[in-house]
Amino acid sequence: MKYDVVVVGAGPVGSTAARHAALNGARVLLLEEHASVGSPVSCTGLLSTRAVAECELKPSEEFVFNSVRGAAVHAPDGQCLPIDGKQTRAYVVSRKSFDRTLAVMAVEEGVELSLRTRAIGFEKTNPEAGEGGKKSSQVKLRVLRNGKPETIATSVVIGADGVKSRIASYAGLEKPARILPGIQIEAPYASDDSDFVELFPGSSAPGFFAWTVPVDEKISRIGLALEPGLAWKNGQEENSPLAHLEKFLRSNPHVKAKYSGSMLDFVVGGIPIGPQENTVSDGILLAGDAAGQTKPTSGGGIYTGAFAAKIAGKVAAKAALEGDTSAKRLSEYDQLWRKGLGKELEIGMKIHDYVGKLEDRQLNDLISSLNTPSILNTITEYGDMDHPSVLMRKLMFSGNSLRLMKAFGTFLRTLF
Ligand SMILES: Cc1cc2nc3c(=O)[nH]c(=O)nc-3n(C[C@H](O)[C@H](O)[C@H](O)COP(=O)(O)OP(=O)(O)OC[C@H]3O[C@@H](n4cnc5c(N)ncnc54)[C@H](O)[C@@H]3O)c2cc1C
Repeated sequence: MKYDVVVVGAGPVGSTAARHAALNGARVLLLEEHASVGSPVSCTGLLSTRAVAECELKPSEEFVFNSVRGAAVHAPDGQCLPIDGKQTRAYVVSRKSFDRTLAVMAVEEGVELSLRTRAIGFEKTNPEAGEGGKKSSQVKLRVLRNGKPETIATSVVIGADGVKSRIASYAGLEKPARILPGIQIEAPYASDDSDFVELFPGSSAPGFFAWTVPVDEKISRIGLALEPGLAWKNGQEENSPLAHLEKFLRSNPHVKAKYSGSMLDFVVGGIPIGPQENTVSDGILLAGDAAGQTKPTSGGGIYTGAFAAKIAGKVAAKAALEGDTSAKRLSEYDQLWRKGLGKELEIGMKIHDYVGKLEDRQLNDLISSLNTPSILNTITEYGDMDHPSVLMRKLMFSGNSLRLMKAFGTFLRTLF
């Protein structure tokens, strides 16, 4: 049995890439190591309206639990910056149902889905350059299907196998620059307003932020992620993500007053930020978390991953059908996804590094500087989870420049 494209990992990125490869005429196999799609979950499930649209889905009761229209940003000193987006800006979803919906869409386009099938390595044959310099490498993917070894022949492999991507390692490609450890519980939590998420930058979660995301008025997902360079080195239990979360739940006065003290669910996971310099090699493409395409400002990876997955599926299918699966041919994917996302991820990384290094005192000043009706209006109008650079640009050229200069120093100018 020979496939044009084999996609490793049936997460949202893998299913989307597989579907787009099939839509472009390829014979496609989608592999998932687990016995079920969408489980276990390592995600808050907060998806911007744009992320859902990028997955070519309409919001549906099948996977949407709640809609949110804004955020309450809580400074370390307790002051709150209320950002009301005035309309639905994001959905809180069941990742299990969301991932399954995408997998069903792939299968409906003719993708074969194989569960309990783990990719464990591959060999590549690199035939001599053919007509017109075309090089069609054949990949023999080694898998364990239901625990038994097998070899699957394909022209292209798309590694959509998440933050720990083994396909990246097997292909000799680098891993994303940094991985932020994240931790989250789902718990009874009496939200002030379930239309708003709550964000807590500062020493509760050094280098990133803590959050509460309402599933409904009574239950929220409460978590945080850390910048490991600033907060935690393996082995230091007192600074671990769990220790930070326990402290946050116990000692943040706002959260403590609403959190019941028990939990319904517990997840941990890594958030890869900073894509590697190269996401292709002969016969191989990487997409989604495997390619570090997650947004460094929010940790969200579905919008960016789906954007890249569609390109990956199309380029992989075309290359396989043309008989040229060389790294040179596949680099079209690398160029196209960077054209769409590269600048935003680069600016996001600068914002991540700048905000992450601010001390609590500086964050208090910054948040207080932003709390004016005119700046809040700008944030409401131009704030965008997926494109923070748009707001940054607007702020830089707004009539509040003196106030913002004081708050941000020269940072805003270094962004563009
Ligand atoms: C705590 C936390 C909260 C987050 N919250 C959000 C959020 O609110 N919104 C958002 O947009 N993003 C969020 N993210 C990021 C988001 O979860 C990821 O960006 C997204 O899941 C990436 O999708 P993916 O398909 O690339 O990878 P994954 O969803 O990780 O899917 C990879 C799949 O590959 C499978 N796999 C791995 N290795 C193999 C193998 N060798 N063989 C076969 N199968 C394999 C895995 O089992 C898995 O099913 C969060 C992440 C964390 C850690």
